[in-house]
Amino acid sequence: KKIVVALDGYSSCGKSTTAKLVAAELGYAYIDTGAMYRAVTLYFLQNHVSLTNPKEVKEALDNIEIEFHYNPKTKRNEVYLNGLNVEDEIRRMYISNNVSEVSVVPEVRRAMVAQQQKMGRRRGVVMDGRDIGTAVFPDAEVKVFMTADVDTRAKRRQVELLEKKQLVNLDEIKENLQKRDHIDSTRKESPLRRAEDAHLLDTSHMTIDEQVEFVLEKVTS
Ligand code: C5P
Repeated sequence: KKIVVALDGYSSCGKSTTAKLVAAELGYAYIDTGAMYRAVTLYFLQNHVSLTNPKEVKEALDNIEIEFHYNPKTKRNEVYLNGLNVEDEIRRMYISNNVSEVSVVPEVRRAMVAQQQKMGRRRGVVMDGRDIGTAVFPDAEVKVFMTADVDTRAKRRQVELLEKKQLVNLDEIKENLQKRDHIDSTRKESPLRRAEDAHLLDTSHMTIDEQVEFVLEKVTS
């Protein structure tokens, strides 16, 4: 029987890396919900959408189409905004610096959550985000909540950015992570928090393999 695996937690704990590998192991689809909020943020910035103007927000959301397409070259699902591949653009710092404010807007959340529920309705998905186990799939069969100390997370993020040829200093990354964690966990609509039935996974001193093993063990037990 196919299930839903919900991986939530703080920014840069290794959620997406873990989720991707768990999905591959299970033959499930992997859905990076953060990429969806990032794509919305890109559209809002490009079109100067005012977050405090409900009419503008609604109109923008009506004009946004987000899709994932598998790229056999990179062996991953890449995100498309209105038909354009934005996978690389949405990982840039200016998006990271704006995404949490956009993700607070209730209309944005409602639209994303609805689309995520649709994508997972046949189950057989691994979804990573902030509110998967609490708001998107409260009935997910396996829930894991990931944390790690902020210095470890900042260093990991720096390496990731370097691989994409983006040189960002550690303090700037750390500040961004802490700011996002704060906004994400204090917003009114589906804030970042551990679901009561989520397994806690602190990845500070764990390898990727160990993280994958932890989640797979919860799936098979
Ligand atoms: O996962 P990632 O770090 O790419 O997510 C970027 C941002 O998108 C988060 O900091 C958060 O503000 C927002 N987000 C969210 N709910 C999700 C996934 C991401 O609010 N399910």
